[in-house]
Amino acid sequence: MSEYISCEWLENGMDFDVGVYGSNIMQCCYVSCPGGGNIMLKRDFDGSPIDWEEFWKLKNHYRDIQKSGQTVKECTDCVFLRKDNWEEGNHIKSVIFDHFTRCNCDCVYCYTHDDKHKYNTLKSYNVMPIIRDMVERGIFVPGGQIGFGGGEPTMLEEFEELINYLLDHGFDNISIPTSAIKYSPVIEKGVSMGAVNVQNSIDSGRRETFAMIKGIDAYDTVIENMSRYASKKAENYNVISKYIICPGYNDMKREADLWLETCDRIGIKMLMLSVENIWLKSHRHEGNRRIVDLVRYILDKGRSMFPYCEGENHVMQLLSGIEKDGQ
Ligand code: SF4
Ligand code: SF4
Repeated sequence: MSEYISCEWLENGMDFDVGVYGSNIMQCCYVSCPGGGNIMLKRDFDGSPIDWEEFWKLKNHYRDIQKSGQTVKECTDCVFLRKDNWEEGNHIKSVIFDHFTRCNCDCVYCYTHDDKHKYNTLKSYNVMPIIRDMVERGIFVPGGQIGFGGGEPTMLEEFEELINYLLDHGFDNISIPTSAIKYSPVIEKGVSMGAVNVQNSIDSGRRETFAMIKGIDAYDTVIENMSRYASKKAENYNVISKYIICPGYNDMKREADLWLETCDRIGIKMLMLSVENIWLKSHRHEGNRRIVDLVRYILDKGRSMFPYCEGENHVMQLLSGIEKDGQ
């Protein structure tokens, strides 16, 4: 172990990224880093066996910069940098599967909304042989976080096999954001083991609002599936419902009330609140009073009803900024 400033992705992480910009292995998926992020570990990756010697040579180049007390240029001012005792040895503990290739929803706020067909037909590869190889070689070991980004994980052909394999090999911190339109037995299994966190952004309390935001009439199915996951949950609250306030669509107290009531009825205990990102970026400084009031209203009511109801970081920053300005 040695103490220096770094992050878990620089040290022990990798991101399998498949999207419109190609298929690459990245250091992490954090694209908002002031230094630029987007550190490439392997360009044009097509699922072929990885040359691990070459991989670690490059990864250790970045680790050595951090060890020397400097900062990797692309990581400058990243919020994930922290001083810690980092382990020696070449292990991967945290993996993100960022497949921007399949989704059975069409959310109005999604980056795929402009050209759904293009994203839904992007070419991908099977990640299972690589994961199996990594586990068998002792390269990929439990201890970090495993997550998905981009499209809908349950639409991936190898999803059930992949999560089953990870659960069978002791990986117990797996986060799965899902549209919850397709029910997944392996999510159910992972939730009941307490090894999987499942998050669904329903953004509505009614079928009509759901259809308007998501582009599909599947509200009842989603409620049914989330209710089934919630009934399997382990002691920790690992079934999460999220409400992204999309001004013009669901920014009414009545809608949010119905969301809270439904979560209560189907046994969800953990709630997250967010505000649609593009809207927030263009209104950050003026702090739209009505939306800020709605955020406060939902958080106050949610906290009185559930063990956990919080805003995402950018929502809390919005509130604290507004409070500082005395609005
Ligand atoms: S410091 Fe930030 S940008 Fe750099 S690898 Fe870590 S999370 Fe990514
Ligand atoms: S569920 Fe996620 S990936 Fe699918 S359209 Fe909505 S935001 Fe995009």
